[in-house]
Amino acid sequence: MATFKAIRIDKADHGQSVALVDFDEQDLMDGDVTIRVEWSTINYKDGLALTGKAPVVRRFPMIPGVDFVGMVETSTFPDWKPGDRVILDGWGAGETHLGGYAQKARVKGDWLVPVPSGMTGRESMAIGTAGFTAMLAVLALERHGVMPARGPVVVSGAAGGVGSVAIAILAKLGYRVIASTGRSQEADYLEGLGAAEVIDRNELTGAVRPLAKERWAGGIDTVGSTTLANMLAMTRYGGAVAACGLAGGMDLPTSVAPFILRAISLLGIDSVMCPQPIRRAAWERLAGDLDRSKLQAMTSEVALAGVIDAAPAILEGRVRGRIVVKIG
Ligand code: NDP
Repeated sequence: MATFKAIRIDKADHGQSVALVDFDEQDLMDGDVTIRVEWSTINYKDGLALTGKAPVVRRFPMIPGVDFVGMVETSTFPDWKPGDRVILDGWGAGETHLGGYAQKARVKGDWLVPVPSGMTGRESMAIGTAGFTAMLAVLALERHGVMPARGPVVVSGAAGGVGSVAIAILAKLGYRVIASTGRSQEADYLEGLGAAEVIDRNELTGAVRPLAKERWAGGIDTVGSTTLANMLAMTRYGGAVAACGLAGGMDLPTSVAPFILRAISLLGIDSVMCPQPIRRAAWERLAGDLDRSKLQAMTSEVALAGVIDAAPAILEGRVRGRIVVKIG
């Protein structure tokens, strides 16, 4: 029997159990590409899956991990051959399909993108789904015409994974970045990533007025709820906010006022089912528009077994930047 190390979530009488196990290769799910996984990462959704705090896992047993990078071992998919280095983000990995916290994965070939040239596997997972999502948000703002000359851009959940990468990208592109955080002790860290101004997230959690003083041309929101509502109310005429997260809640207590009186747009961002052409474009942009020394500065590392202990920390907003998981 060929086995490999994996984190496995099983259904238990009350909730679920999580353990590092020897997983039988025969139990991998269908797919036309088998990959030797080298690195994965811990995203907010992985925290939800590992702790069972939200019904992210739709199949048991499950190997969690919504993203990974690795080397193709075997492939019947025309685009990939043994030795190719590939990235997977989303498509249900760690939710409906066995995911990245394992030494092996088998997936559909059309879910994969190549590791951009010049980028290491570790760097690609330091970016991971969080950083890929940050890039999708930046691309959405650009498509809407929110360019650096239009004015500042606010980033909520700034010290988290999506927020940290978003700040570094926006700063490199020449935007004036306003970082909103609940961790004032991370101001130096955020300025190091390129934030021109750091504000207390309490400025965005008060009672929501339909329209408030115009403060920024656009925003990237990872928090949702009152924070997103206030960001919209404080956006300049014609601007846009890209919404990708719910770290503060799923609700959105706003009115139509920002949309119909200030022509503001709310741009939805999804990394899981994002079409391939946009995916590839985003990864190519990440190769050029993200300062690698800043990426390194925001990244810490754990071993495969370490994901179990790290999961609660990301849900409690205690993780700074990104965590890569060393698997290979
Ligand atoms: P992190 O936990 O790394 O960052 C979230 C940050 O949000 C925290 O660091 C904290 O920042 C802030 N925060 C946490 N709790 C609260 C709260 N109750 N109220 C206000 N702010 C809070 O997670 P990620 O950056 O990886 O993910 C952020 C969000 O984006 C998650 O909701 C995640 O599910 C979502 N996401 C969505 C994707 C998509 O495809 N749409 C893909 C990837 C992520 P600070 O301390 O600086 O205030």
